[in-house]
Amino acid sequence: MQPATILVVEDHLTTRNFLADNLTADGYDVIEAESAAAARQLLAGSFPDIAIVDLGLPDGDGLELLSHVRTADRVAGRLDPDLPLLVLSGRVSELDQLRGFDRGCDDYMLKPFSYHELNARLRALLRRTQRRPRTARLRVGSLELDSQSRQVWVGGEPVSLSKKEFALLRALAGEPTKVFTREELLRGVWGFMAMGQTRTLDSHAFRLRQKLNRGENRFVINVWGIGYRLVDGSLES
Ligand code: CA
Repeated sequence: MQPATILVVEDHLTTRNFLADNLTADGYDVIEAESAAAARQLLAGSFPDIAIVDLGLPDGDGLELLSHVRTADRVAGRLDPDLPLLVLSGRVSELDQLRGFDRGCDDYMLKPFSYHELNARLRALLRRTQRRPRTARLRVGSLELDSQSRQVWVGGEPVSLSKKEFALLRALAGEPTKVFTREELLRGVWGFMAMGQTRTLDSHAFRLRQKLNRGENRFVINVWGIGYRLVDGSLES
């Protein structure tokens, strides 16, 4: 069984880092959003298996994020309306919790929280939902990516990627054409303080490019001095 991908939506840096570090140590793939806008992008492009959602966000209310997921169009969109959602919030009143469930959260945990309890609840939610079939696929040019089975194809031919190569590709595919900085990718893919470990990133990106680039096709582009971006294969570099 491949590790589950957890989207952590949390604007408080210390809490976000704490969650990312511990969840990564427990074998999850972690992707992080510090705002509602960033969360929407990752929800649309990175196919998390579950999301931990803080309610007080700098650019909006986490409750709106819950509605955004639950009202998603299953067929047309990339966003799964049945995505398990766990609210982790400092809003502790019963009314706040009821509002959360009303908007569609599956579980509601109060801050301050016990990490062990959070992890147990995540496992319970994942157990219940992991056998649910999902068909969401992402296509960029002739590159195709299935987040559920973690399979990748170029021009219909399967490409075998390591776990981290896949995570890197998925991060880039979350927002095709965006240039991701090395810092964004290190934190987004490795999920812990990996600053300065740019050689780790560069070696994974190098192998990813070798595996994906067929003939004249180029998908992963190195933007010198900044980082990487994904293109649709029609550009040559
Ligand atoms: Ca907050």
